[in-house]
Amino acid sequence: MKVSKRVLEMEESVTLAAGARAKQLKAEGRDILSLTLGEPDFTTPENIQEAAIAAIRDGRASFYTVTSGLPELKTAISGYFEKFYGYSVAPNQVTVATGAKFSLYTFFMSVINPLDEVIIPTPYWVSYADQIKMAEGVPVFVQAREANDFKVTVAQLEAARTAKTKVLVLNSPSNPTGMIYSREELLAIGNWAVEHDILILADDIYGRLVYNGNTFTPISSLSEAIRKQTVVINGVSKTYAMTGWRIGYAVGEPEIIAAMTKVAGQTTSNPTAVAQYGAIEALIGEQDTVEQMRQAFEERLNTIYPLLAEVPGFEVVKPQGAFYLFPNVKKAMDMKGFTDVTAFTTAILEEVGVALVTGAGFGAPENVRLSYATDLDTLKEAVKRLKTFMEG
Ligand code: PMP
Ligand code: GLU
Repeated sequence: MKVSKRVLEMEESVTLAAGARAKQLKAEGRDILSLTLGEPDFTTPENIQEAAIAAIRDGRASFYTVTSGLPELKTAISGYFEKFYGYSVAPNQVTVATGAKFSLYTFFMSVINPLDEVIIPTPYWVSYADQIKMAEGVPVFVQAREANDFKVTVAQLEAARTAKTKVLVLNSPSNPTGMIYSREELLAIGNWAVEHDILILADDIYGRLVYNGNTFTPISSLSEAIRKQTVVINGVSKTYAMTGWRIGYAVGEPEIIAAMTKVAGQTTSNPTAVAQYGAIEALIGEQDTVEQMRQAFEERLNTIYPLLAEVPGFEVVKPQGAFYLFPNVKKAMDMKGFTDVTAFTTAILEEVGVALVTGAGFGAPENVRLSYATDLDTLKEAVKRLKTFMEG
């Protein structure tokens, strides 16, 4: 066997795999509605495109940048933090990377020693567990109860804590559940982490995508002590419809940020220069398009949620942010004679051409994930087909 044990033991990203499968079937001429990938269907706003084109034309984008990112981009990130987090960040507290996903990877590589434990509230976004394993850490899954809106409590975290607990992953608004932790819940969790010297990895990537009056509180904004204990991961992919540009960043204490930059320096070098110029414009340019996209997602959620709740056997909690619905399909599987959610998802794809993501990769074997980052007609037709599948 030529492939390493490390990679053999790794799970493929189920989100990317489901997205690729749907694309492939479409290319083969099949009538497929894909609710797989969490990526805005909008193209990147024009002011951002123009800024990037200008940087190519005048030669600024031709060269390597500092590994941790352009100074102007760090200034833009600091300004963004002043506005949305209520504090500013020094250049040595920021490192920009090739997507938030790679920021996460450099974080885990930077802080985890073999067998260190990382607590992951479950359901969780697919890539955390495998990245932790790549860093030779141990993911510790703490099951959030659906009745508690898929959120974990301090009592649950305390029950999972051991002498080896190094990091707590916190993703609010959550992919896949769309749930948001309240200020009080975050304060309790933050204080618990400070008390036990556990690092908080705050994946805030959906922080601007909140709906129906719900608000996002960054845990790092709650106290100086919590901020010092936290590394924030954020990026431009979701908020600015820039998934293809691959720009994410981390904000935290200089020691960890420097370590993360060191990992990047030996792997990717700097994130793509032209994409960094686009990201500067995203962060400092006009923000009207962000609000327009947010409103579109909100309308889709409010339209599609009640329709999905009517599909026989689909039980769904209304999400507050991000762009996913995460129904429990246990009853639906029972009705159709399935015991495995991946087989259930595959049958839906084969029979009615709706591509969903299995909950299995999110640590949720009774759920499926639908992304509503697609147009309303597609969403309505997809839910209609799910009904047909269940009634057939
Ligand atoms: N965190 C979460 C929770 C996500 O859903 C995603 C989606 N890709 C990422 C991080 C990574 O985003 P990106 O690499 O596109 O910046
Ligand atoms: N984060 C998105 C999702 O969950 C994009 C795919 C990925 O990076 O996993 O669908």
